[in-house]
Amino acid sequence: MTHAELQPHVDLVITGGTLVSDHAITPAAIAIDGGSIVAIAEPALMPPAREHLDATGLHLLPGAIDAHVHFREPGYTHKEDWETGTAAAAMGGVTTVFEMPNTNPPTATPEALAEKFAAAEKAYVDFGLYGLLAEDNLHHLQGLIAGGVAAFKCFMGNTFGNLPSPSTGAMLEGFEIIAPSGLRISLHAETASIMAHRQARLIAAGRHDPIAHLAARPAIVAVEAVSRAAVLAEWTGARIHVLHISSGDELRPLREAKQRGVDITGETCPHYLLFNEHAYRDLGSLIRVNPPVREQAHQDALWAGLADGTIDMIATDHAPHTPEEKLRNDIWQADCGFVGVETQMPLMLTQIAAGRLSITDYVRLTATAPARAFGLYPRKGALLVGSDADIAIVDLQREHVIHASHLKSRGSITPFENFPTRGLPIHTLVRGAFVMRNRELVTARRGWGLSVGRIQAMPAPAVKRPDQTIAACTAHSG
Ligand SMILES: [Zn+2]
Repeated sequence: MTHAELQPHVDLVITGGTLVSDHAITPAAIAIDGGSIVAIAEPALMPPAREHLDATGLHLLPGAIDAHVHFREPGYTHKEDWETGTAAAAMGGVTTVFEMPNTNPPTATPEALAEKFAAAEKAYVDFGLYGLLAEDNLHHLQGLIAGGVAAFKCFMGNTFGNLPSPSTGAMLEGFEIIAPSGLRISLHAETASIMAHRQARLIAAGRHDPIAHLAARPAIVAVEAVSRAAVLAEWTGARIHVLHISSGDELRPLREAKQRGVDITGETCPHYLLFNEHAYRDLGSLIRVNPPVREQAHQDALWAGLADGTIDMIATDHAPHTPEEKLRNDIWQADCGFVGVETQMPLMLTQIAAGRLSITDYVRLTATAPARAFGLYPRKGALLVGSDADIAIVDLQREHVIHASHLKSRGSITPFENFPTRGLPIHTLVRGAFVMRNRELVTARRGWGLSVGRIQAMPAPAVKRPDQTIAACTAHSG
């Protein structure tokens, strides 16, 4: 009997590839067993394995963690569902998604959360579920926490699903209730009243052209909301995350809040990094998204914000609609948002090829930082011994052209149609299992995805002014 036969076999050994972290690029072999990484070393030191993958010429990245997707189920499955949405994620090298609560019913009660968990049983990739923080569901927030939400979402501006934005009073009480859980509250930081006022004035003046959407939502809409949310977070000790940063102006309140010690993170999205105001002329209502794509100076500021660390992560705001819902003549009638979870990686790897971003920064922005912000690090967001084997195996040289018809999403019309890309995920593994292999979805892995609730560990909360909360002020003393 040989030595190799006496050793226990691991599930999978990948050789020939180059591992990328947020700070290093290292040629190494990697061994995976039971869904976890069990060894990283020279190929000669690898244990015997039941399966081998030759990744010569490829790079192994921690799978992307997309903190911002809308999979539309329950309620709007003609746009997307959990099977098509997570299939798109798998094809895009995304191994964990955080899914938004503006479904029907909205994820605003423990019952609706249970319904969302049931829909998510079809998932190909791991997921966290957002619970809603709204004006009228404050009494359900504890139940949502107990039910296993991974984070909360607060719409400061109205968006798809017609969920009214909460008053500042309700937001403050919501922050008070959520702060002791340590969970992060993600904000659609656009102030509803400013937008509603401007939109009504624009419509009254006869504006129905695509760029009127930008005129209704200048950067002050976001600046006011980010600043106000940061003040509430500072007061209560709640953790917050600013979704889809679209303007250079938001970076100042974000930076200042960080300097004041607020636990605040921020994301931007590929469309804000790759489109400018010309998109309204070139793409019409297809580019309509909240917040809006803005002028080139904002795009430049966002790139600078990524480089200097003010912006923590890249997410996609994957928000599918049908072509009919996107392409309406009146800009105010076109649905907002578009797909993105499948195209983020090829688009951003193309920026690496163009010399605009380093691959280690890319790993930080798409994997390590979101894992840290949402309490998943180092189980996710890194390729370390003991980490989940969530891996995007990419060919940095592979050229590709984006076509909506090839995407797995149901509502797959995209403003990135015909974009040439350089760099493509070839295989995607979630906890050691291929969910995409050689650019093919592994359909047998439908339902493989798990809630990140089992591993989420947020740092201890730092609640402030507990004696001044609504709960403290209304508690009976005898
Ligand atoms: Zn969104």
